[in-house]
Amino acid sequence: MKVFYDSRMSVDSGGYSPSGSKPAAVVANWMDLGIEVCEFEPATEEDLCLAHSLKYVSNVLSGLEANGHGNRLPKVTEATRWTCGSMVAASRQALIDHVACSPSSGFHHAGYESGGAFCTFNGLIVAARKLQNEGLVDRVGIIDCDVHYGDGTDDIIQTLDLSSRIRHWTFGAAFGRRAFDQTAFLDELRSALVEMQTEGVRLILYQAGADPHVDDPLGGVMTTEEMRERDKLMFSWCKQLEMPVAVCLAGGYQRDKNGGISKVLALHRATMEEAITIFGQPEMG
Ligand SMILES: [Zn+2]
Repeated sequence: MKVFYDSRMSVDSGGYSPSGSKPAAVVANWMDLGIEVCEFEPATEEDLCLAHSLKYVSNVLSGLEANGHGNRLPKVTEATRWTCGSMVAASRQALIDHVACSPSSGFHHAGYESGGAFCTFNGLIVAARKLQNEGLVDRVGIIDCDVHYGDGTDDIIQTLDLSSRIRHWTFGAAFGRRAFDQTAFLDELRSALVEMQTEGVRLILYQAGADPHVDDPLGGVMTTEEMRERDKLMFSWCKQLEMPVAVCLAGGYQRDKNGGISKVLALHRATMEEAITIFGQPEMG
């Protein structure tokens, strides 16, 4: 399993969310699973403008405007170019290996002209459009299983009129206003995936958020076993449908007594274990 990680994408944002420094912790936690860490280039200003206005991108990159973590720390802002670049690289690799991973978070609340809620730039849209512009794929599907509504993703799709080329299913919109039921959720997830394939989608960007977990302070609907089942079935269906899938992390806010994030790491580890079990280990190199 190729994992697109660079230490420059992992920086403590200094705020509530541990997501900024999660890439390094997640990758360290996965090393014994036999992952292959791969190099990549950070997203350019031009890449980021595939999802955002030039004014927003240049204001954030120059420090005139706060990043999605609400600060103007250059290292934190710079890390977002690396998380988006990682998502682009993982998406490109998924078309070759059927599966690849970007250990990144902080995408889906970033809208066309705004960031927030720990999201600065929308790496999902950047990756989809970049590969489309390269002629590697026509239609792309985003399946967002973070517990929260991917409002930024929807905002960009609407603003740039992308709905014919980027399909979007987000847990937060489907289950945000009604009681959670695992069977109904899995049915809906599978239906969304099959519908996307029928519509011509040939690449899935899968946000395997850790914040749907029942103990998450900002989430709270699924057990540990239900979350593993989510990932297992998602990867199984992608394999059955011969649908390439690029997986990223998204939210997860549980803290240990000492402030650590071992419970969040365990959930992300389960995702990686299921991906490797379902797809096997592609040849190294
Ligand atoms: Zn979330």
